[in-house]
Amino acid sequence: AKMEERNALRFYTPKMHADARRRLKLAAELRQALQRNEFHLVYQPSVEMKTGRVVAVEALLRWQHPERGMVPPDEFIPIAESLGLIRQIDQWVLQRACEQLRLWDDARLPPLRMAVNVSASSFSHPDFLSGVGQALLASGVPPKRLLVELTESAILRMGEDTEKAMIALHNLGVAVAIDDFGTGYSSLAYLKLPAVAFLKIDRSFVTGLPASSNDVAITEAMIAIARSLGLHTVAEGIETESQHDFLLRAGCQEGQGYLYSRPVAPEDIARMLAPKPGA
Ligand code: C2E
Ligand code: CA
Ligand code: CA
Ligand code: CA
Repeated sequence: AKMEERNALRFYTPKMHADARRRLKLAAELRQALQRNEFHLVYQPSVEMKTGRVVAVEALLRWQHPERGMVPPDEFIPIAESLGLIRQIDQWVLQRACEQLRLWDDARLPPLRMAVNVSASSFSHPDFLSGVGQALLASGVPPKRLLVELTESAILRMGEDTEKAMIALHNLGVAVAIDDFGTGYSSLAYLKLPAVAFLKIDRSFVTGLPASSNDVAITEAMIAIARSLGLHTVAEGIETESQHDFLLRAGCQEGQGYLYSRPVAPEDIARMLAPKPGA
């Protein structure tokens, strides 16, 4: 089997050729996307499981390409990372998201937490902290309302600088969420870092609830670890009532998923949460 695999790599199919060409073109276009204003953010609510109240939103990046239409982040973020463009993009997202939170505050929406996804190379860069500070200062958003989401695998890749960056962020008053928790094959040691205050249970475990006994066992174990360390748990990708019911009973504090809302435009968040006239 090993031999066959190796041989298979030598076949350069027309499909691979087309994929490689597409990536090259996307890379060239990605360099101009920021200047051309082709990015925007959508926001996915996160609800408190017990009450159904929206307590937070996650900013998710969208690239509206003039000819291709919407390019999904799973496709362009890895390219942006390999081109060294991700720091600029993540900084733009941080700034926009904080500005948006300020606008919602001004419109007297309930005080939401704003979660922003950050790539490993952005987070571990020495300028990251001042970028966060700048976004907070410019918008007037208090640090404790901002949450930086880092994937478990990103933390693994960063190595020694992680701890320093985490402590600095913590000193600034900004907390970190471990995104896609359970998928990173890493040690659990970083859960002790003071900035880490949230665990996001990956959708791949939520999907199997409550039918899969493996997913049930893993999810319960993750919630137990989080609880004993005093971390706040957020389950991702909740699509059904039975997933919601299971997670609520298992003691998960917060949930995100299509069951509650897809990622939406800022106006939709405002419509959802704005104070009713006279109320
Ligand atoms: P993520 O941070 O794990 O975000 C959750 C993804 O799951 C989002 O996909 C969201 O739209 C999707 N999702 C939410 N609820 C459900 C559900 O109930 N069912 C299903 N099937 N999917 C659901 P999206 O927006 O395509 O983002 C994909 C990934 O791209 C994100 O995964 C994140 O890792 C990355 N990303 C997005 N925005 C940014 C950004 O501004 N900076 C960086 N560095 N990465 C970003
Ligand atoms: Ca995330
Ligand atoms: Ca995630
Ligand atoms: Ca993910």
